[in-house]
Amino acid sequence: MEPNKDINQFEIPLAKRTYLNNTNSIFLKKLLLFSPFLLFLFSITTLRLIRNIELEPISKLDFKAVGNHNHRILGHLPYKEIPKDKLVFVEPNIKVHIDMRNSLLKMREAAKKDGIYLVFLSGFRSINLQNEIFYSLKSIRNQEAAERARVSAPPGYSEHSTGFAIDIGDATQRETDFETEFENTDTFRWLKKNAARFHFKLSFDKNNKYIDYEPWHWRYEGSIEALKVFENSNRNL
Ligand SMILES: [Zn+2]
Repeated sequence: MEPNKDINQFEIPLAKRTYLNNTNSIFLKKLLLFSPFLLFLFSITTLRLIRNIELEPISKLDFKAVGNHNHRILGHLPYKEIPKDKLVFVEPNIKVHIDMRNSLLKMREAAKKDGIYLVFLSGFRSINLQNEIFYSLKSIRNQEAAERARVSAPPGYSEHSTGFAIDIGDATQRETDFETEFENTDTFRWLKKNAARFHFKLSFDKNNKYIDYEPWHWRYEGSIEALKVFENSNRNL
């Protein structure tokens, strides 16, 4: 058995070497044959990578520059949702941005002294709530999105999500809540005359070409943060 073992020990590595040599040359031939294709694949992948690297900062910039470009959807500008810690109550069920609370309450007090009774109807609305409002009302009223957008903002595009918007009604004429007829109330006349003193402004007046007139919807522009939020809207009037 000894000589056999010697032969085996010698023969196997030789066979292996021959096999390896053969496979190496086959592999090399295949590599040469496919090299143009591999080169093509490599350049495509590299190009894609470069393009992705270039695109990423642009898309990030786009997101940040929302205030500097016109990205309207159905006439509405995009607004971010305000962080919860900046919200405070002005009514048991109505929250607004902390920057505008004092001004809003002072405005209500000033109106009261003139015999005008403001009622706050809606302040901060989360994007989720706006989502419910926009889609449920749209289907209830059997309206197309574009029609609905004339009277309600799509989610992510409402001034209410910034905490700087407030819908106001007349406490003595509640039937005019959220109605164009609100413009005939004493409250609206008072607001037209006095709201600017408290840094409030009508968001969607009769001249707005995108959105229907909303005499009840006012926004606060009395802080730098608020001005930044509405800069794009003011510039595109
Ligand atoms: Zn509103």
